[in-house]
Amino acid sequence: MSFDQLTFDDPSKRYAHIRPQAQEQPFPGLDRDLDPQADHGEESYRGTGRLEGRKALITGGDSGIGAAVAIAFAREGADVVINYLEPEREDAERIGGLIESEGRRAILIAGDIRHRDFCRTLVAKAVDALGGLDILVNNAGHQEYHKDFTDITEEDLDRTFKTNLYAMVWLTQDALQLMGPGSTIINTTSVQAYKPSPIIVDYATSKAGINGFTKGLAMQLAEKGIRVNAVAPGPVWTPLQVTEGQPPEKLDGFGDNTALGRAGQPVEMAPAYVFLASPESSYVVGETINVNGGLPVP
Ligand code: NAD
Ligand code: MG
Repeated sequence: MSFDQLTFDDPSKRYAHIRPQAQEQPFPGLDRDLDPQADHGEESYRGTGRLEGRKALITGGDSGIGAAVAIAFAREGADVVINYLEPEREDAERIGGLIESEGRRAILIAGDIRHRDFCRTLVAKAVDALGGLDILVNNAGHQEYHKDFTDITEEDLDRTFKTNLYAMVWLTQDALQLMGPGSTIINTTSVQAYKPSPIIVDYATSKAGINGFTKGLAMQLAEKGIRVNAVAPGPVWTPLQVTEGQPPEKLDGFGDNTALGRAGQPVEMAPAYVFLASPESSYVVGETINVNGGLPVP
């Protein structure tokens, strides 16, 4: 959707009420193959210089919510490093191209954040390429449903917790060696932290962990002038949903349970990240912004 086409009166109609057909992709999936295509703000996000000169690392910045955040950050004036998994190269290159067309620098670094050593390498390469680092967006995540909780294997649990939690701790530890006052850390949590669905108990547990991590770390880092906050999306149309994030037959009604009655688009998440990254949110510390179409949470 282009900026001029957006309506400003009715949020329930601002984006289409999509009804995705049953579809599946092998993990980690591609935005390229989502049907319908998702909106990352390609045509509509307008920047106003709120992140001028900033240097950002975004995990999972190739697709979905991370891709929308990457586009928005670039249009707000930041240079951006995107981390992604090798099979997602095509998505990552597309977002890299959009960042560069804004006159900003895009650095694409593939690798698996479940590995301690790779997290160190990622931060070191990002700092090297950007000449510093002052925004870390811990956004990469893994979600895989199991109708029966007892089917979750040790390997499944390891993948979910390592991607969603361990990597967040490791990347934050590494980034903190180099971040100075004014830097910001933003973690992607989920409505699942408050309203766990029975078929993704392990994922919901990891997201509740992210909430605790965000609040506790925020209290520790405030005196260093570094703010830590989180964004908690509701149902958003991204590859995560079609790579065993949901049973395919459920996609048709995805987002119907929100007050707005529709799924969110990745672009609708981006302004919350921009706000938390920019100095405009200087008095916002240890907070979670819920962007969920109306699913009231504590
Ligand atoms: P997405 O599939 O577009 O993004 C997830 C990204 O995580 C992938 O692009 C991939 O690059 C990255 N990733 C996964 N495992 C990785 C690994 N081992 N190493 C490196 N990168 C890895 O889907 P999305 O929905 O945009 O997900 C982004 C974040 O939003 C996740 O943390 C997810 O839990 C969260 N979230 C999504 C929804 C939703 O409805 N889509 C709702 C709430 C929270
Ligand atoms: Mg992806």
